[in-house]
Amino acid sequence: MFCGKCCEDVALPVLHMLFPTAYLDEAGLEFYRAHGLDKILANNENVEFDYGGKRISINILELIRPDVYVNDMSSQLFYIEHKLNELLQTNDTIIVKHRCQHLQENNACGIYDRRPQVCRTHDCHSTRNDCAMPPIDTHKMDFMWPMAKRS
Ligand code: SF4
Ligand code: SF4
Repeated sequence: MFCGKCCEDVALPVLHMLFPTAYLDEAGLEFYRAHGLDKILANNENVEFDYGGKRISINILELIRPDVYVNDMSSQLFYIEHKLNELLQTNDTIIVKHRCQHLQENNACGIYDRRPQVCRTHDCHSTRNDCAMPPIDTHKMDFMWPMAKRS
């Protein structure tokens, strides 16, 4: 019944992704950590995202500290080609390709009873038009809607 799409692919300004404790409020941080986005930095992984009509995959430290980590010619060309300097300066929104760590194989939420507040109040129909479920009231959603992602 549930497709799980609401619990994948997070849209947020790039600086919110890179410096969550500086840019996100408590509700945002609760969602960020529950989703597992903090592990990308903790494990020094690549962050994969859509920006400017392109799919980009880059080590997260190269985005956070390009002055330190973007030091070979191919990395510099990659930065220029994808206008990543501009992205950081404008703090544009990126679509981070990520599946929530609590999304189960059957697309149910694995922490339904303690899911973040953002997940409880997210209205799928405000951000997408491919949901097969009918729109429902937000106050009902808390009881009926097991998956959502932050707006
Ligand atoms: S609310 Fe709709 S789009 Fe979102 S996970 Fe459920 S069925 Fe999929
Ligand atoms: S509802 Fe559950 S599975 Fe979906 S994003 Fe929130 S915590 Fe993750």
